[in-house]
Amino acid sequence: MLTVTEVEKIILDLVKPLQEKEVVTLHQVTHRILGENITSGLDFPYWDNSAMDGYAVKYKDVSMASKKNPVSLKIVEEIPAGYCPQKKIQEGETARIFTGGMLPDGADTIIIQENTQRQGENVLIFSSTILQDFVRQKGSFYQAGDVLLSAGMKINPPEIAILATAQCLNIPVVRSPIIAILSTGDELITPDKPLQKGQIIDSNQYLLASFIQQNGGIPLPLGIIPDDETALENAISQALEKADWVISTGGVSVGEYDYVDKVLTKLGGDIRVKKVAMKPGKPLTVATFGDKLYFGIPGNPVSTMVTCWRLLKSAMEKLSGNINYSPCSIVRGITHNHLRSDGNRETYLWGNVNLIGGYYHFTIAQGSHSSGNLVNLKGVNALGIIPIGTNLIEIGDDVQILLV
Ligand code: AMP
Ligand code: MG
Repeated sequence: MLTVTEVEKIILDLVKPLQEKEVVTLHQVTHRILGENITSGLDFPYWDNSAMDGYAVKYKDVSMASKKNPVSLKIVEEIPAGYCPQKKIQEGETARIFTGGMLPDGADTIIIQENTQRQGENVLIFSSTILQDFVRQKGSFYQAGDVLLSAGMKINPPEIAILATAQCLNIPVVRSPIIAILSTGDELITPDKPLQKGQIIDSNQYLLASFIQQNGGIPLPLGIIPDDETALENAISQALEKADWVISTGGVSVGEYDYVDKVLTKLGGDIRVKKVAMKPGKPLTVATFGDKLYFGIPGNPVSTMVTCWRLLKSAMEKLSGNINYSPCSIVRGITHNHLRSDGNRETYLWGNVNLIGGYYHFTIAQGSHSSGNLVNLKGVNALGIIPIGTNLIEIGDDVQILLV
């Protein structure tokens, strides 16, 4: 059986980042992935401007100024931010200037107002300075034509501000991946139906749709498919036509009704993974149809969730075109409970972490850790990991924690 790390690598290697692009507006671009490099025709700063409230001066006028021998300059203009200076500063002159105000011609340095005193039409300068002090030079942060943001970058608030500043209103992004979802099982009903004895309500469809959405994909929920080979074959081939990936739950174990692998092979899929040494979630089918991936996940909702968090999250990031996708965020911390495993598979126990004094502290969720106990997943923000070969991690010991 393959280890979790091996399967993670196999999956990531199989994922082909989407190439097709679409154009969105500044209001729609949050968390999207840039489809092209962005350049601007503007320098940043756009022009020389003042970093402080003060006076714009000629350096050579004030280079010898001191408390004892202040220099008096004539104020010829006032320059708030947004105003275009009308006058050129001559020897012995200055302009009152405010933060962000455009530096007037003839001036090269800002004296902060704390080192000055106003005297009617004039100002006294009390301290010498260095040339270009508090001047933000045109193009010193960025020069027009250079790459401002790179293709494959995820757009968060700082990048949106940069796009706005660059007057980039229509932004090329990678199109969002479409992921089809199938729930397999004769026992399943939709949540709106009255529950008959023996039936199970399909929660995975909603869990997966939400997970896909949360990770920037477009879920395509295709409903419940009975444990019937022909029905499954039709559903899977339709799903493959419509989506970039297909995720089905159920039907990948070794039971008599578990047809998924058989149907995948019949449809020409190449099965790359059948099982992973992970608990919960041992049966896991990963198949390829050209560039498209098929994930057959076990039916238990807890297994479905843990498999998504551990193996599909990074893969989805890569599919979405994010060049900075990373393998899962696994950190180290201290456990507040004994963590037990049979030691045969890498075991994931769900719970919560708190960051106390810079250290992660893991507390296991109360209640049964059966993979059937979906209710126990509420509010979980982390999974404690017990490696293969370890039966017990004791209270206070170091533990690996997957942040989810
Ligand atoms: P399977 O992997 O098909 O053997 O299913 C394992 C368990 O998960 C069974 O108890 C199923 O009833 C349950 N299960 C399967 N699919 C779903 C689903 N979509 N939503 C909730 N439970 C499910
Ligand atoms: Mg089933």
